[in-house]
Amino acid sequence: MLHYTLGSMIVESDLVTFTYLLKQHDHVGEHRLRIKRGDGNIIHALIHMRPQKVSKVGDPAWLLAISDISDMHKMTMEIQVQGKALDAALEGVMITNHESLICYVNRAFFDTTGYCRDEVIGQSPKILRSGKHTEEFYRAMWRELSNTGKWQGEIWNRRASGEVFPEWLNISTIFDEWQRPMYYVGVFSDITREETVRRRLHQLAYYDGVTHLPNRHLFLDRLKQQIMQSRRSATPFALLVMDLDRFKTINDSMGHTTGDLLLLKVSERLSHLLRENDTIARMGGDEFMAILPMVDSVEGANHVAEKILSSMAEPFDLAGRRYHISISIGVSFYPDDGLDEENLIKHADIAMYKAKDSGRNTYQKYHHSLNDKLAGRLTLENDLRDALGNNALTIAYQPQYDLLTGRLTGVEALLRWQHPVKGMIAPDDFIGLAEESGLIVDIGYWVLRTAAQQYMTWKRDNIDVGCLSVNLSPHQFLQSNLVEQIVAVLNETGMPASALGIEITETAAMPNFQYSIKTLEALRGMGAIIFIDDFGTGFSSLSHLRHLPIDVIKIDRQFVDQLPGDPDDTAITLAIISMSKSLNLQIVAEGVENMEQLRFLRLHGCHAAQGFALAKPMLAHELMQHGFASLPME
Ligand code: C2E
Ligand code: CA
Ligand code: CA
Repeated sequence: MLHYTLGSMIVESDLVTFTYLLKQHDHVGEHRLRIKRGDGNIIHALIHMRPQKVSKVGDPAWLLAISDISDMHKMTMEIQVQGKALDAALEGVMITNHESLICYVNRAFFDTTGYCRDEVIGQSPKILRSGKHTEEFYRAMWRELSNTGKWQGEIWNRRASGEVFPEWLNISTIFDEWQRPMYYVGVFSDITREETVRRRLHQLAYYDGVTHLPNRHLFLDRLKQQIMQSRRSATPFALLVMDLDRFKTINDSMGHTTGDLLLLKVSERLSHLLRENDTIARMGGDEFMAILPMVDSVEGANHVAEKILSSMAEPFDLAGRRYHISISIGVSFYPDDGLDEENLIKHADIAMYKAKDSGRNTYQKYHHSLNDKLAGRLTLENDLRDALGNNALTIAYQPQYDLLTGRLTGVEALLRWQHPVKGMIAPDDFIGLAEESGLIVDIGYWVLRTAAQQYMTWKRDNIDVGCLSVNLSPHQFLQSNLVEQIVAVLNETGMPASALGIEITETAAMPNFQYSIKTLEALRGMGAIIFIDDFGTGFSSLSHLRHLPIDVIKIDRQFVDQLPGDPDDTAITLAIISMSKSLNLQIVAEGVENMEQLRFLRLHGCHAAQGFALAKPMLAHELMQHGFASLPME
C-alpha cells in the first residue's frame, strides 16, 4: 500500500531507479528524487529511509523523512553551470585571493599560459610576468585597482614555455560585506594575433613593401619632427632627394620582379651608407629621400652625395646578370632652402632635376635660380605634347656617303622641333624629356611613319636615298610591340624593310641582352639594317656586341672630333675600325667636320661618313635643292 502510494508520488523517470534500489535492499540512507506534490508541482526532494521494526510478520516497514531541497539543487546546478561556462570560455580566468595568491584558473588559462593547475594554484601571479613592464607599470595598475576596483589594459605576460605574449586583461575586485577586497578576478584574452595584425597594418601603412624602408607617409612624419627639433635647437639639417637614372628602362624590359629586386638592392646600399639617426625612405617609383640630421654644411652634404654616387658605380648582380644604374641627387637645407616640409622637398626636387639635366649620375644643391628652370621644364613638356598634335615636329635628313666610292649610302632621320616661341629646339634638349614623360612612344611612331612616307615620296620621284635610318631611344627600343609597330608602318606605307635602318645605342641594347637579340633578329630577319649608334660611349665593349645581330657600327662624333691630333681618340678610332672589320661590320664615322678627318678615316678603311663637312641635316625640300650628289673625291 505504502509502496504504491509513494510510487505514485515519485516522478515516473526516477521511479525506476527507486524501485531498483528497494529491490537491491540497498535503500538505507538518503536518496534524491523528484516528487510530484499534491498541487502538481515537481520538487527536488531528499528522502531519508530507515527500516522500522514491525510487530507482525510480513513486509518490512520504513520510516521516510522527505525534505524539499529544490533551492539547494538549483544553487548547485548554477554553480556547476558557471564552472562549466568558465571552462568553456575562450578567455582565460584567474582568481586571486586577498593575499594575491592564485586560487582559481580556468581551462583557457592553461591553454594560453601552458601552466597546469598545480603549478599556479597558491602562487603569486608574478610568475607570469614578462619583464617587459616596469615596476611603475604594476604600481599604477594597483593604484587604479584600489581606487576604482577595476583595471583593464594590454599587458605582456610570459607563458610556461618562456614565450612572451600580449594579452588584454580585465581585472575586477570582489569585496566582502565590509567592502574589503576578497578576490580579484582577472579575465584575459591572448591578443597575439591582433597584435600581429596590428603590426602588419602598421608595417603596411608606414613601410614600403618592396624595400622595407619607411614610406612617404612615415617619411613626412619624421621630416615634420626633424623640422620641429631643428627649430628648437636652431641647427640646420640636409634633405636629399634621389632618383634612379633610367630605371624605367630596366623595369619595362626586365619585368617588375627584376625591377623590384634592383630597388631592394639599391635601398640596401643606401641604408648601408647612412647613419643610424638618418631616415631614408622610398617615396614611390624609383625615388628615395633621406633626412640627414647631423649634416649641417654643404661640404657635409657633398661628402654624403659623393659616397652615394660611388656606391652606385659598382654594377648590381641580379639573377646572374649585371646591371649598371646611376642616381641623381638633389640637396636642400633646413632652414636656408625651406622652413617647412613642402618647400624643403620641392627645392630638393628641383635640385635633383637639375642634376638629371646636367647629365645624371651627379648631385646638385638647391639654389633659387633653379626655380625658373624647373618651371621651364614643365612648360616644355606640355609644349612638346602640343607639338605632336600641331605639326610642329619635322624631320631633317642627313646624308651618309661611302668613303671609297663617294656614293650616297643612306640618310639619317633626325627629329626637329620648331617651338612657337623658343624657335628650333635640338633633340638632345627634348628627347630625354620625351622619354621621362612617356611621350617618346608616340613621337617615335610619328618619326617612323613620317620618314617612311618620305622615303616613298622619293621613291616615286625615282630618287634612291639608299638606307633611311631612324633613331630609337632606349625606352622605345624596349617597347614590347616595337616589331609589330614597325611592320605596321612598313605595310601601311609600302616602304621595303631592306631600306630601313634602325639606330640604337649600346646602352639601349646591353642591359637586356636576350631581349635585344630577339628583337634585333626579328627586325634583321625582315631585312632591316641594324646600326649601333654612338659607339664607344657606353659601358660595353665590341666583344659583347659580337653576340648581337647587327650590321653597322657608328663611331661616336666625340672621337672623330679630335682626329687625327689627339693620340687617344686616334687610337680608339683605329681600334674600333679594326675590330669592327674583324667582326664583318660596316663602319660609319659621325660628325665629320673637316677634310683632314675625312682623309684620315678614308685612309684607315672606315667605310662611310656623315657630318657637316659632307652635308648638314636638311629638311626634305632642302635636300631636294641640295641634291643627292655624291661625295667629292680628292
Ligand atoms: P645622333 O643619333 O648621334 O645624331 C647625330 C647628331 O649629330 C645629330 O644631332 C646631327 O645633327 C649631329 N651632327 C651631324 N653631323 C655633325 C657634325 O659634323 N658635327 C657635329 N657637331 N654634329 C653633327 P641632332 O640632330 O641634334 O640629334 C641629336 C641626337 O638626338 C641624335 O644623336 C639622336 O640620338 C637623337 N635623335 C634625333 N632624332 C631622333 C629621333 O627621331 N628619335 C630619337 N629617339 N632620337 C633622336
Ligand atoms: Ca643616330
Ligand atoms: Ca650618334
